[in-house]
Amino acid sequence: MSARRRILPIFVPHAGCPNDCVFCNQKRISGSLLPASTETVRSRLSELPEDAHCELAFYGGSFTAIDPVLREELLAAVRPFLERGTVERIRVSTRPDAVDREVLESLRSAGVMTVELGAQSMSDRVLRLSGRGHTSADTARAAALVKEAGLTLVLQMMTGLPGSDPAADIDTARKLIALRPDGVRIYPTVVVRDTALETLWRSGRYREHTVEDAVEVCAKILPLFEAASIPVIRLGLNPTDELSGGAAAAGAYHPALGELVRSRVLRERAERLLLRDPPKGPAALEVSRRDYSAMIGRRRENVLWLRERFPEAGLRVRSADVPDGTVRVVPL
Ligand code: SF4
Repeated sequence: MSARRRILPIFVPHAGCPNDCVFCNQKRISGSLLPASTETVRSRLSELPEDAHCELAFYGGSFTAIDPVLREELLAAVRPFLERGTVERIRVSTRPDAVDREVLESLRSAGVMTVELGAQSMSDRVLRLSGRGHTSADTARAAALVKEAGLTLVLQMMTGLPGSDPAADIDTARKLIALRPDGVRIYPTVVVRDTALETLWRSGRYREHTVEDAVEVCAKILPLFEAASIPVIRLGLNPTDELSGGAAAAGAYHPALGELVRSRVLRERAERLLLRDPPKGPAALEVSRRDYSAMIGRRRENVLWLRERFPEAGLRVRSADVPDGTVRVVPL
């Protein structure tokens, strides 16, 4: 293993969480059946090579709602590795209503540098129907406190929750941008087995948020964050053997969801250009080398879709010296 810094995730499934969100079965999402203990922390860190430098991430639960004694013990188990430099930073994820100045200060002094808040939606109706147990005002307040404490703020949002629709999801993105996070994660809703959402879906009271639904709405949301210079550090649940093996009963689970969305964003950019200035003869779509395969799309989906709409252009895709995310239409 190289000395490169990487994120070492330690899942604390449901630890500290007083809630039961309809979509949540943290034990399945994280692929881990037992909550992390100080022993898990020590042994995971001891397995790393001497020259490793990692960021340790406590994910999956509501870290700030864990019993303070256990929380301190988990952080104390990291301390020797922080002092040695094996752990350079710690990040935790938590609920917006489990954050106050005191707990943020204790995290900061224990080496935590990033707090991720599960905002999920800024619609109070969606939050209520999803059983989140907090409001959008809690998110705004917690986000301000995290920034005030000098910590890096990451906000997580979901699309396709019960009671939501594309307009509400886009509105959530706009409201999160107004909170000026340092990064966001977007998780389109997946119906995980053994959750209340599975029951709602099976009984017809929840319409599944399909992969196509997620691609469609996220292709509107991603450019909003990009325009605000807010990095989208994750789009879609991390693929796990369990989710791929059947734990994802329905919904927007796709191992390459982020790529599908980026591909759709490029297709929409190309479509807008072609509609605005329809080519009179053969044309090429020029994109950066990095965007080349996303522009073409899976199984050439984008090219076929655009060729069908603009048959006179006989469109081709080629890489050129243009900024990532940019599409240029060039007559041939
Ligand atoms: S707050 Fe987080 S851990 Fe708790 S039930 Fe909801 S999603 Fe699961």
